[in-house]
Amino acid sequence: KKKIAVMTSGGDSPGMNAAIRAVVRTGIHFGCDVYAVYEGYEGLLKGGKYLRQMQWEDVRGWLSEGGTLIGTARCNEFREHWGRKQAAYNLISEGIDALVVCGGDGSLTGADLFRSEWPTLVEELVKDGTFTADRVEPYRNLTMVGLIGSIDNDMAGSDSTIGAFSALGRICELVDYIDATAKSHSRAFVVEVMGRHCGWLALLAGIATGADYIFIPERAAPKDKWQSELKEVCQRHRQKGRRNNTVIVAEGALDNELNHISADDVKNVLVELGLDAKVTILGHVQRGGTAVAHDRLLATLQGVDAVKAVLEMTPETPSPLIGILENKIIRKPLMESVELTKSVATDIKNKDFDKAIMLRDTEFME
Ligand code: ATP
Repeated sequence: KKKIAVMTSGGDSPGMNAAIRAVVRTGIHFGCDVYAVYEGYEGLLKGGKYLRQMQWEDVRGWLSEGGTLIGTARCNEFREHWGRKQAAYNLISEGIDALVVCGGDGSLTGADLFRSEWPTLVEELVKDGTFTADRVEPYRNLTMVGLIGSIDNDMAGSDSTIGAFSALGRICELVDYIDATAKSHSRAFVVEVMGRHCGWLALLAGIATGADYIFIPERAAPKDKWQSELKEVCQRHRQKGRRNNTVIVAEGALDNELNHISADDVKNVLVELGLDAKVTILGHVQRGGTAVAHDRLLATLQGVDAVKAVLEMTPETPSPLIGILENKIIRKPLMESVELTKSVATDIKNKDFDKAIMLRDTEFME
């Protein structure tokens, strides 16, 4: 009987619970035992009560719950060889040799490393007398499948990630609220949104709310020039009768010399224009709350496919990442997508913004 563990790692995102639910129930449907690893890699290292078998009814009502109900954490020990050995010990002790990890690129890189190291870790556990060779024989290989749980939508090779559309929806709703009061007082609002090094949330929120101007890292604003352009655009919109201004700033916004552009920098320029300008940093409300329908569906379909992938994989199959491309759930070699994602950061560092935008998989970013 296959024993599959499912875990969430890195930053939480709406829809993670729907993914866990889908993995648990699909696993049970296919006759597997399914475990939840609580508290991300920290739980994998601690073992014991952090690895809990899940029943069908344990995940009842999880579709709509925000965050992750099995907890998540950042765990430095998992970056160390001894930490991963401890994790291997805990999994083998429970008889688990398949892992579905829902997290960002860091978590998935860690998972892929864990899998490639697994045969060595098992060998070490035999050599140091922790397990007998017979005992570990059924666990010589680890099966690992990745699901992308991230509000940032920053994974190359997938149209969206679990949580991104929930965060986008929340941002739009909040900008609408801000617009209502801004219009009343003829104010300008600079809204900082999450996304780390990715401008997807800022760009799409800007389009969906009809913002005057958007700052994203992939389309770096020209240093010393964006100020006058911003003023010109906002002024033009005012002259056409607009009573408010909205500027969306991605938290990782840059100018083309790679200087960070903060919401305050933008506000100060608007104040110079004589506008009553204010800054709103949306913060963690973007992350929390229930998942929108898209993320519930995405997480469910991908959770189902993750279990199918576990059951179909051979030791030679590269760790797959379950994504979505043109409305189809797809499997891609995980590290290929992670490398491509990392290359966007390198392109930005090299000021090759055009290439960075192309790799974001969002055509209209260009
Ligand atoms: P988010 O995008 O929300 O930040 P993430 O998964 O990228 O999510 P990280 O903090 O990068 O978040 O990674 C989460 C955890 O994954 C780390 O705390 C660590 O335990 C593990 N991890 C990350 N990178 C590696 C790595 N190179 N080797 C081993 N483990 C890693």
